[in-house]
Amino acid sequence: MQRIEMPRFNTIRGMRDFLPKHTERMRYAEGLSRELAGLYGYEEVITPIVESYKLLAAKSGEEMKQRMYTFKDLGGRKVALRPEFTASIARLVAGKMRNEPKPMRLFCMGSLYRYDEPQYGRFREFWQADYELIGSEKPEADAEILTLTNDLMERLGLRNYHFRIGHMGILRGILSQENVEEESQNRLMQLLDKKQRDEALIAARNCNVSEECVGTLKRLFKAKGKEPSRVLRRVKEEVEEYGSAIAAVENLWDILELVRDGGVKFEIVIEAGFARGLEYYTGLIFEPYAPELDIALGGGGRYDKLIELFGGGPTAAVGVAHGIDRLVLAMKKQKISPRIREEKRVVIIPISDELKAKAIELSLMLREAKIPAEAEVMGRTVSRALEDADRKGATHTILVGPDELREDKVSLRDMKKREQRVIEIKNLCEEIEWSMG
Ligand code: AMP
Repeated sequence: MQRIEMPRFNTIRGMRDFLPKHTERMRYAEGLSRELAGLYGYEEVITPIVESYKLLAAKSGEEMKQRMYTFKDLGGRKVALRPEFTASIARLVAGKMRNEPKPMRLFCMGSLYRYDEPQYGRFREFWQADYELIGSEKPEADAEILTLTNDLMERLGLRNYHFRIGHMGILRGILSQENVEEESQNRLMQLLDKKQRDEALIAARNCNVSEECVGTLKRLFKAKGKEPSRVLRRVKEEVEEYGSAIAAVENLWDILELVRDGGVKFEIVIEAGFARGLEYYTGLIFEPYAPELDIALGGGGRYDKLIELFGGGPTAAVGVAHGIDRLVLAMKKQKISPRIREEKRVVIIPISDELKAKAIELSLMLREAKIPAEAEVMGRTVSRALEDADRKGATHTILVGPDELREDKVSLRDMKKREQRVIEIKNLCEEIEWSMG
């Protein structure tokens, strides 16, 4: 056969392989996220990675549209790899799940795709744990999503994090009253999302808003602080001419009061000029941050219009997506190393070729007792195999030799204590369990 020379392949730009240690951390964060979903009553659903482009583009915002992996499938349909979960969930709730009683609590987890410029904490393929609470417009629903997010941070062991919090109803309320069309509002929010405040003010002027309004916006963009009551009082004074903006401030106050009175404690930074790029948000918006990373660990908020847009009845909803990759980065930065691995790790080494089958038999017996076991498969000498077991952190090795085996025994070696004893096979599992304490 003719040999074809192939280049050495690498992952394509922005895509990553995860080696075992990192994978373990990712799975740990995912495991906690899933456990939390169960504790809060969120039922898991699985939606496809490939969705209709139209669905994903509907309310995702200009920025996201530019970054989607879009292509025509072989049937000629314009499709895209999902850049987020919310559109798929809204599609489900507007369609197959439309008659489910409310509230509905849904959870999903998986990979997402955005053609972002790769950099620290920003990847083209990344993972999210997503929680959506559907059917309630009440502040207690928003409070639950905030509480759940805080709970996840705590369970992961993260410290000194804070929540950046705002409300889309404040700015949108003002702009709507100034007759700024939704599309222009969206452009302004995109600028604010990128912290381009001066450009946002110019955009507002170009929409012919009053000079008083420009002044109000300017002051609002600066309204920021850790004490909700103080910041919100100030914001309320600023927006006193704008009815729905006042309602938004009061709604935010109600949410934060519920969280506080529920005994949930986390640091907050309120920002009246905080906006998120996704266009579907209508109320509370927030992002948790760890001090070691200047990128958000997650993002959430209320989106009361999206499900209706996809053909469902008017359905209020609030949700949050946690970035698994960034949670893992934050844990690393804070030197949090959970005890992830099964503590036991047993390697079984046959002393001679005729005992290979016995090694397989013993490994099955250990696994039956839920003890992780690996049989030697490289045909190495005992000393080489022992060296390798030591290198990969095996807690025990079992040497299968003909003399011991005649008496239904094997040698069990405790790799940490460097002790070796001959044990009856029937007592092997107990012995290993016992030696681990
Ligand atoms: P978003 O859907 O934009 O609100 O993002 C929610 C969370 O997903 C962010 O706070 C990040 O933790 C994570 N995330 C979003 N984009 C990326 C990316 N390109 N790489 C890694 N994580 C991301």
